[in-house]
Amino acid sequence: MSAPDGAILICTDLDRTLLPNGSQPESASARPRFRALAAHPDVRVAYVTGRHHALVDRAIEEFDIPVPDYLIGDVGTSIYRVQGRTWLPQHDWQQQIAASWGGRDGPALHQLIADIDGLLLQEPAKQGPCKLSYYTPEDWDRPVRLAEIEARLVHEGIAANLVWSLDEHAGTGLLDVLPAAASKLTAVQWLIRLEGLDADHTVCAGDSGNDLAMLTGPINAVLVANATADVRADAAGLAEASGYPDRLYQAKGDFHGMNGCYSAGILEGVAHYLPNSVTLWADVDA
Ligand SMILES: [Mg+2]
Repeated sequence: MSAPDGAILICTDLDRTLLPNGSQPESASARPRFRALAAHPDVRVAYVTGRHHALVDRAIEEFDIPVPDYLIGDVGTSIYRVQGRTWLPQHDWQQQIAASWGGRDGPALHQLIADIDGLLLQEPAKQGPCKLSYYTPEDWDRPVRLAEIEARLVHEGIAANLVWSLDEHAGTGLLDVLPAAASKLTAVQWLIRLEGLDADHTVCAGDSGNDLAMLTGPINAVLVANATADVRADAAGLAEASGYPDRLYQAKGDFHGMNGCYSAGILEGVAHYLPNSVTLWADVDA
C-alpha cells in the first residue's frame, strides 16, 4: 500500500477480539494475516484492553500476537508507548483523568459502595490507580444497581464512568468504576492527538460491553462476528443514538475464506474502511 494518506492505526481489544479465547472457532489464516498487516511499516497497532501490561505480555507470548506500538490498558485508564518490550507510561493521561475522582483512589471509592447488592471485588492484580473493578452476577439488576452506585458517588462529589460487560465465557458480569473522563474511546482520541495520527485512518475493534464506547463514537469501528446478539443490538442502538451509525461495521464473515470472528473480523473491518489494506495480507495463508 502506498503511504501518502498516512499510517493506519488499528486499536483493538484483546480478549475475544484479537485473542481467540471464546467459544467460536478461529479461521486458521486470520492471525497469520493480522501479523502480516501489523508488521507493515505504515501500520501501527494499539491494544485497548481491560488487562494491565503484565497480562498483555502474557497474552503476547501465549497467543503469538505482535508486540504493539501502544497499549491502552486498564479499560482506558492507562496509556503506554511501547519500545521493544518496555512499557513507557504516559503519566499526563492519568493525571488528567484522575481529577474527576477528586483525589480519591479505588479503595476510598470502594468504602462508599461496598455494601451494594451483588458487588464482589476483583483480585488486587485487576485493580488500577484509576480503576476499581468488581464481579457481578450475570443477571444483576443493572439499571437499579448502577443508579444506586452513581447516586452514592455523586453525593461525594465523585464523577465516575461505570462500565459493565458480560464475560459470557466465565458466566459473570464485570463492572469497572473509572474516572468520568476515562473510557476506551477517550483514551484512543488522546492517543491520536498525542501521536499526530489521522483519525480517518484509525479503526477500532471490539466484542463486548467495555468496547462499546470506542465502537459507537465518531471513530471507524468494527464489532467482530463472535459478539453476542445482545452486544450487537446494544452497539447498533448506541451508534444510532450518538449520530455515527455509519462508523460502526459489524463483521459478517465469508471474507477471503474467513469467518469474521476475532482477528478475521478485525481484518474485515479494516478493509471495510480502508480497502487497500487487503493487499498487505491477502497472499498470506495459514
Ligand atoms: Mg473483549
